[in-house]
Amino acid sequence: MSPARRRTLALGLGVAAPTLALALGWLLADLRERSMLAEQRHDELVQAAELLRAAARESLEELRRREDARPFEHYGRFYRPPEVLALGEAVALSPLAGAPDDPRISAYFQLDPDGRVRTPYATEPGGSPRAVAVEATVAGPEFAPLRALSFGSGAVAGDQSLTVALNDMGNAAYRDLADARRGDALAAERTQKVRLPQTSRNLVTWDTIQSQQAQSATPPQQASAEPVFEAIQQQRVVGPQGHVPSDGSQGPLPKEHALEDIPQEAGPSLDYSPMAYLRLGEAVVLQRVVSHAGAGSVQGAVLDRGRLAGEWLTALVARHALPEATPTIAATSATGACALARPVHDEVLPDLAFCFPAPPLPPGGSLVLQLGVLLGLGGVVAAAIVALARAARRSDELSAQKTAFVSAVSHELRTPLTTLRMHAEMLQEGLVAPERLPVFYDDLAHESVRLSRLVENVLAVAQLEEGRRVLQLRPGDLAAQIRDIVDDQARHVERRGFPPVELALPDEPVTVRSDPQAVEQILVNLLDNALKYAADARAAGLRVELAVVADQAVLRVQDRGPGIPEADRDRVFDRFYRVARERDAHTPGTGLGLALVRELARGHGGDAVAAARPGGGAELQVRFPLASAAVRPT
Ligand code: ADP
Repeated sequence: MSPARRRTLALGLGVAAPTLALALGWLLADLRERSMLAEQRHDELVQAAELLRAAARESLEELRRREDARPFEHYGRFYRPPEVLALGEAVALSPLAGAPDDPRISAYFQLDPDGRVRTPYATEPGGSPRAVAVEATVAGPEFAPLRALSFGSGAVAGDQSLTVALNDMGNAAYRDLADARRGDALAAERTQKVRLPQTSRNLVTWDTIQSQQAQSATPPQQASAEPVFEAIQQQRVVGPQGHVPSDGSQGPLPKEHALEDIPQEAGPSLDYSPMAYLRLGEAVVLQRVVSHAGAGSVQGAVLDRGRLAGEWLTALVARHALPEATPTIAATSATGACALARPVHDEVLPDLAFCFPAPPLPPGGSLVLQLGVLLGLGGVVAAAIVALARAARRSDELSAQKTAFVSAVSHELRTPLTTLRMHAEMLQEGLVAPERLPVFYDDLAHESVRLSRLVENVLAVAQLEEGRRVLQLRPGDLAAQIRDIVDDQARHVERRGFPPVELALPDEPVTVRSDPQAVEQILVNLLDNALKYAADARAAGLRVELAVVADQAVLRVQDRGPGIPEADRDRVFDRFYRVARERDAHTPGTGLGLALVRELARGHGGDAVAAARPGGGAELQVRFPLASAAVRPT
């Protein structure tokens, strides 16, 4: 590599490396900042999701606690608070008899040990539409595990199955009250005597209920209930353990209805498992088992899944979501598009998830912009290095060409000068035989012509380069000019051993605006080249042709020499360029002739090109615009 190229490359790399390093550092710092920011936003999303999940958990736990505290008796159609009956009031309908006041609950139910489904809604035989719907739901196949939880004797007999007995007593009391209203004296008397047992409540674990079931004389209704017990036991939210006295009343009564005066019968104590969520396929149920003396009823509420997933979740999100992190609700199986997804509630709604969209990051375009700038910078630097390398190579080539030119010119000058000097000295000293004199004079003339052509070419190129030469374009017949020039060169051609030039000119004058001196320089240079390079094929002679093609006059100079290789056909018009060919190694030349031809042709508004002559040899074409065509100002 030349020192110039090395310097250029070092300069390029010296500028490029720190520039790219800076740009890369900028990009990396920005990427790091963005990734930290993204991490921070992700953490914020996780917090927002946990906040919502906690709110959902708390809301469902609050519902569970409320239902857990609900007295046993509410699940029958007829409610029998002893104090109310004792006071003779006919308030006997369960508070649950209407539509549930919590929109998340669609219906309450009770499963008796005998497999009967009870609801607080049934009044008439056959049941209300709501009761029929609940019974159908609870009797459905998905609820089989729930039905398996009730146990005990199918027969209703006194304390054997208190759950049923108490409800029936409630029914009887209500019937009596109704009959008494209708004037049935016996019923009225019975009503006065009704004293329902005061139950007490034990909140117990499943172990307790199961051991009671085992002790019971009656075998479990369904052996397959065992695994279900265990499954539920694991899910169960265990409430406060132990004995919880409860009289089933709704709170302290006003003074005038004080209960102290009402004689109470000591009632049995019931065992309750804590209310817990149970998923049965698509449905969600809140349920507990109430047991006594080897019989167990299942009580609970069927949740309205549509409302849970709809209104309740919407309200929850509206109340608890952070404005900058508001999720949508999506199926857990379809959260691919979410930046973060968390199940709404692991137990009750595991199939629904809070789906958070990607949090906004600083304008996304900036990264693209930076990458673009970096790539652009890289491109510019690469292009600059390539351009510098090319310029360095070109400058190397030019300097090599100039060196070659200097040595070629010196050589070109030395040869004719030596001939001239030697011939002149020999003539001076009278050493030339008289019969050799014509040859000597001819040589002297030939060499001085060669010398002056060389000098003319060098001067012409220098003038053109410096813009000192202005072509004097005048309209004239190009054909006539060419004929004159070829005639002038006839002797020169002949001397080189070539037959006379074959001239093919149009019959009509070809008018172009031309500088006759420049035209002569063009044609003489082309003929000189043909004589030089086609010397081995001199017998085939040279041909000069002028033709009108479209709006141009095309001058062709053809020989049968080696021709110009296709790869070099354009470059031969560069200054100092010579085709690197073994056979031309000793052919004198400076690489200026064709460069001058092209520049002069362009000065006429035309151009010069090299081609292959059909049948072998070189063809050099020079085009001149016809006088009528537009001429480029010179
Ligand atoms: P030079 O002084 O070397 O002749 P030119 O500019 O006139 O310089 O020509 C450039 C190169 O083109 C020559 O060195 C030669 O290799 C090639 N060339 C020009 N004319 C011909 C031709 N008629 N036949 C073959 N090669 C040619």
